[in-house]
Amino acid sequence: MSAALLTGTPLTGRVAVISGASSGIGAATAERLAELGATVIVLARRKDRLDTVVGNIQATGGSALAIAVDVTDRDAVIAAAQEIAERHGRADLVFNNAGVQLISGIDELRLDDWQRQIDLNITGVMNVIAAFLPHLTGSADRGGPADLINTSSIAATRILERFSVYSGTKAYVSHLTRLLRVELGRKMVRVATIEPGMVDTELPDHVTDPGATRLMADLIHDIDVLQGADIAETVAFMAAVPRHVNLTEITILPTAQSI
Ligand code: NDP
Repeated sequence: MSAALLTGTPLTGRVAVISGASSGIGAATAERLAELGATVIVLARRKDRLDTVVGNIQATGGSALAIAVDVTDRDAVIAAAQEIAERHGRADLVFNNAGVQLISGIDELRLDDWQRQIDLNITGVMNVIAAFLPHLTGSADRGGPADLINTSSIAATRILERFSVYSGTKAYVSHLTRLLRVELGRKMVRVATIEPGMVDTELPDHVTDPGATRLMADLIHDIDVLQGADIAETVAFMAAVPRHVNLTEITILPTAQSI
């Protein structure tokens, strides 16, 4: 899908916040949403990388702002939401995407890796929801679009050896989203998860277990995997459909991925 499906600027007037936007899926999505007309606010820890994303967007005439924030820091995320409210009004599209995958055998007892995944993939996700939910309900109350799109993974449902803690965090995200949809859908806030298979990003580079790193590298090099742009186009489509349509659980796989 590196060939774009959407044309024109269907997201004009939207204000999109994207966490984990300094690389991979988040960076690609920021650039695509901006190209489709949205004002984009990119969040992550590496400010230099965020500035590059903003530079790319501005170079093509788009509007973007970088806020360096560690989403595991609740107060920092709330401060970012306040800054966005002051500068751009309300965010009406939140792509809650920052995540880390540190796979290892459970008997290796890599407790620090377990904790990092829980802190970011669960607590970080909740911090973003808490900080931006008032933006989304405020937009919906005024009759505008409102999207909360959480990045889960096919690991949420597949049984993959060594993925236990990561898969547990993504199962949390997927099921949380189903539950939030019940409460927020009736308020006209669309709630969705995107569950990708293998996407070529930095994600495997952070794994500290050499066996797991090899496993991931082999998987990625054996088939024609997804690119960040494929996920970006899908997220854009989820946000561009009419307000009464909620594409709520999207699984997106490389065609040749067998698991
Ligand atoms: P990347 O490693 O390229 O992106 C991860 C992003 O999260 C980076 O922008 C990183 O930026 C950010 N991040 C990490 N820690 C924090 C933090 N504490 N606070 C704020 N931001 C943080 O990988 P992907 O693009 O692949 O990952 C994006 C999402 O997609 C994740 O949730 C991942 O689990 C999910 N996913 C990925 C798949 C794949 O095959 N790649 C498959 C299925 C799901 P920085 O370091 O600058 O903070």
